[in-house]
Amino acid sequence: MDKSIGIVGAGVAGLQLGLWLRQHDIPATIITDRTPEDHRDMRLMNTVAHHNVTLQREHALGIDAWDDDEVHYVCHHHYFGGPQPLRFRGDFKAPSRAVDYRIYLPELMRLFEARGGTIEYRQIAAEDVAGLAGRFDLVVVSTGKGPLGQMFEHRPEMSPYDRPQRMLCVGLYSGVAPSEPRGVTLSVSPGQGELIEIPTLTFGGMATALLFENIPGGDLEVLASLSYDEDRQGFLQTVLEKLEQHHPTVFDRVDASRFDLCGPADLLQGAIVPTVRSSLHALDDETWAIALGDAHVLMDPVVGQGANMASHAAQILAEEIIAQDVFDARFCEIVDARRTDRILSALRWTNAMLAPPPPILLELIGTMAGNQALADEFTDNFNYPERQWDHIASPGRIRAWIDAAQAAGAAQHRQAV
Ligand SMILES: Cc1cc2nc3c(=O)[nH]c(=O)nc-3n(C[C@H](O)[C@H](O)[C@H](O)COP(=O)(O)OP(=O)(O)OC[C@H]3O[C@@H](n4cnc5c(N)ncnc54)[C@H](O)[C@@H]3O)c2cc1C
Repeated sequence: MDKSIGIVGAGVAGLQLGLWLRQHDIPATIITDRTPEDHRDMRLMNTVAHHNVTLQREHALGIDAWDDDEVHYVCHHHYFGGPQPLRFRGDFKAPSRAVDYRIYLPELMRLFEARGGTIEYRQIAAEDVAGLAGRFDLVVVSTGKGPLGQMFEHRPEMSPYDRPQRMLCVGLYSGVAPSEPRGVTLSVSPGQGELIEIPTLTFGGMATALLFENIPGGDLEVLASLSYDEDRQGFLQTVLEKLEQHHPTVFDRVDASRFDLCGPADLLQGAIVPTVRSSLHALDDETWAIALGDAHVLMDPVVGQGANMASHAAQILAEEIIAQDVFDARFCEIVDARRTDRILSALRWTNAMLAPPPPILLELIGTMAGNQALADEFTDNFNYPERQWDHIASPGRIRAWIDAAQAAGAAQHRQAV
């Protein structure tokens, strides 16, 4: 059967979906408001790390421009501050990487068009979407966190927060030496927020993304509103002071004489309200719109899951479009049944990390600091949020994980002596 799919939005969700469809010769049209050239001069959008499951998907899609050990990183360096700071490392089974999306998305647009996909450049308003029903068998809305996604109903029962839990200040910086081995640093300043430091491929080569996740009302919140453009020296001085006080393992690698944003547009300040929307919207009696990526589930970036989930969901949606001939409410139910567990696990894990940590979670972190296998498993689970959530969804599950890890550690120790 001939199928024609319309995709609104050319983010990671829409573009990976389009590439999967073109791999199976299914006609796909992306309608989006930004050209590849627009990305060059845009403000930083995000600082996205793709975990290895996503890299494997990219490999299957022939996205190979960054298959380079110089871009990959292999571990997470954890730092938990407080009176008795904890430092430990967790290793991935296979590497991750981060590429500035202003480089990444135009390359995917190029591949999509080279493989027979069509891109139409224009902005779509909510009232225009129904008009697409006449042109396509299924309309996919992957317009990110913007207003268009609001055509899908908000699901308050899955969206526990009605305001941002972190005030974000994220930039691409020079003057920060990479960690050894090259990894992401996850640094926690209890009661104040987190810093995620990511080695990132930028327009100027490898640089360092510093994503400050600041608790509202805390000492670090100021970072989300300081103006770099109005007072560059003041901005950099404040960032350095906050780094030294709250995130010392990153501060230790800073060369203050070279520390600066890579460019004035390489800074993003803002906040996110984690939100789940229903995935389905009827356009007419026969045609449906389905939400994909941030338009469906929007999460805070504290554990780096939004784009990885968008990529996962794009693959599942593509597989079902390829396998099925009728794109109705039942089709959407089948897609949801396959994508929901991982995506909701990522969301719930993320939301749990935004809340004040219960004592059992602190005990888990303390156990990880002395148990390499547990630290590695926690780290590799960034690929599989449903496995992480299986272990941390309730105090009983965390207790069982700690006990199992300690028993395994003790058995290994007995074998060694
Ligand atoms: C600071 C930060 C750090 C992050 N770090 C990570 C990370 O480490 N790992 C991770 O997995 N995720 C991370 N994320 C989340 C990640 O960026 C998003 O989940 C992901 O980019 C969403 O992709 P998307 O395709 O759904 O939407 P988007 O990337 O937002 O794409 C939307 C597309 O739709 C287009 N569009 C929007 N409105 C219209 C319209 N009306 N008409 C036509 N076109 C339209 C836009 O131009 C764009 O092309 C981070 C986010 C932030 C803010």
